[in-house]
Amino acid sequence: MKTVLTPWSIDDAENTYHVKRWGNGYFDIGESGDIQVIPRYDQPNLKINLKEVIDEMQSKGIQFPAVIRFHDILRSQVELLNKTFRNTIEDANYQGQYFGVFPVKVNQMREVIEEIVSAGSRYNYGLEAGSKPELIAALAYNTNKNSLTILNGYKDDEYLRLALLGLKIDRKVIVVIEKYSELIKLIDLAKQLKIKPIIGLRVKMMVKGRGKWEHSSGERAKFGLSIAEILNAVTYLESEGLIDCVKLLHFHIGSQLTDIRAIKEAVQEASLVYSKLFKLGVPLEYIDVGGGLAIDYDGSQSTNDSSCNYNLSEYVSDIVYGFKQNCDLESVPHPHIVSESGRAMTAHHSCVITNVIGEIHPSGTQYFTGKATGEHIIVSNIRELEKNLAVTDRNDNQQEIYNDAVQLKSQAMQAFKLGILSLDDLAKVETMYWRILNEIEQQMQHLDFVPEALNDISQLLSSQYLANFSVFQSAADSWAIDQVLPIVPVSRLNEAPTKLCSLVDITCDSDGKIDKFIGNDTVANNIPLHTLNPADDYFIGIFLTGAYQDVMGDMHNLFGRLNEVHIVSYDDDPKDFYIEEVIKGSSVDNVLSTMQYTPAIMAQIIKKEIDDQIARGKIKPREGVNLIDFYEDCLDGYTYLK
Ligand SMILES: *Cc1c(COP(=O)(O)O)cnc(C)c1O
Repeated sequence: MKTVLTPWSIDDAENTYHVKRWGNGYFDIGESGDIQVIPRYDQPNLKINLKEVIDEMQSKGIQFPAVIRFHDILRSQVELLNKTFRNTIEDANYQGQYFGVFPVKVNQMREVIEEIVSAGSRYNYGLEAGSKPELIAALAYNTNKNSLTILNGYKDDEYLRLALLGLKIDRKVIVVIEKYSELIKLIDLAKQLKIKPIIGLRVKMMVKGRGKWEHSSGERAKFGLSIAEILNAVTYLESEGLIDCVKLLHFHIGSQLTDIRAIKEAVQEASLVYSKLFKLGVPLEYIDVGGGLAIDYDGSQSTNDSSCNYNLSEYVSDIVYGFKQNCDLESVPHPHIVSESGRAMTAHHSCVITNVIGEIHPSGTQYFTGKATGEHIIVSNIRELEKNLAVTDRNDNQQEIYNDAVQLKSQAMQAFKLGILSLDDLAKVETMYWRILNEIEQQMQHLDFVPEALNDISQLLSSQYLANFSVFQSAADSWAIDQVLPIVPVSRLNEAPTKLCSLVDITCDSDGKIDKFIGNDTVANNIPLHTLNPADDYFIGIFLTGAYQDVMGDMHNLFGRLNEVHIVSYDDDPKDFYIEEVIKGSSVDNVLSTMQYTPAIMAQIIKKEIDDQIARGKIKPREGVNLIDFYEDCLDGYTYLK
């Protein structure tokens, strides 16, 4: 990594970490070099210093890693979505209204659902459930009688009975038929219970995406009803005299739609299906466009998997104007619009803060490399090479020296395997090899032209920062689907980062690492970070983690849920925020219990063993009691490193 010769500014930090590009207005870098959070879209001057939040958490004894949730960001996103739809509908003179629903599966946390329902109540913003447990939650929390409860997912009898229960208490529960047989089941039950269902039909879309998106859409297209099935459903419902129950046409072509063209095409196709069905006498009132509104995780505004080439208002305009034009052409009424954006509502609102607890550096160790009698010729050769490099200035043989060093190191390994090179000699070769690479890297900064072969060196010399978290619990999408997530040090951004690093977690799994970062134009394998200062904590934030991975983490290595704080902005406070709630993460006791252990019995077993050792005089009673207490404290404690 280059030593920076020019002074470092906040602009340089921005150009390195691209906070503004992915931050969507919610994050920036303050003059103090700390990350700032601007949690209210309508109050750009209200800024929370993330470092101050961390300080306050530490003063309360909250251990890291931890999740920080900004409830105002959730509210802001819900308001922005609803206002954008309302304003666009008004500007377009569109005749229908907007009834959004939040898909519970994207973040099922009660506090998240409560905040979303509360922020959305004046817009009649509802919930979408995709399973029985989610429906049970939606029925209890979406109590607004004017908002919709949309039911997707495969359904059994109980699921359908719960839907009808919702109707009995005056909720607008719409059962979306994913599979033809569900329709028969639903009608049977509705007749038994003497209640008229509200039915949605999910259409299997023909629209095909291109590039990265194609795969996801192709897979999703297996859900829903084909056109033939829809027509059969219409005939069936007409014969049952229940065609007036069909109110909604639903589609969902996949999450994280990176290309706006896919949305335009889907709207085009869906409005045609709607228009034709309407003309056949199906009294449709709503079109549900599903989810898919994407998050620009890497800030590139492109069709990269972790990005998107459009923003919220373009998305909404394409939907509203698309339906308007197509419906006008077909002379059918403009339907109410439903959307099920989940990712876009929740991704920004939470981040994971972890502390770096150490550095793993390949070239960190020094070993005495002085000449010894009888040393192997390879050792003398690499020593000679190091000397040559020392007198090389502005010359062009760095590349040659690098190649020689690589070769000598590999020869040394072979000689060692053949038993003709000692461990001592091998350690010397290794040490000099890394010193040579470090020196070449220093010299590279003064070269006018850096040969391509030398580019490997920075990668070879990069450090691994050991961060106190588990990728499997806290950044599941980065592990499972190669999602690029913004990662930024929380402070010291007014200081030049001097090390290229990747991150490794504390699980005993070599997959437990993050090595995809936002680069300048592409995805980078390393991220520039600061030198660790043993006296200070070094906190880094993993941002935009509020959708899906927030609730999908697993307990690999028995690392459990994280401590959580919920932050609410408050203008009158000197720091502009307060910690509204602290939710303790899993204790060791908790995670063991979920795996069928009984911690109390385990403590008894250890106590008995220690008592035996005391009885045999091997452990002093006082020490024994302390050991038992220590074991029990650890059972009670946090699963991560202290
Ligand atoms: C997952 C899902 C959503 C949410 O999609 P996002 O891309 O997160 O907005 C919406 N509707 C259905 C049917 C889903 O399965």
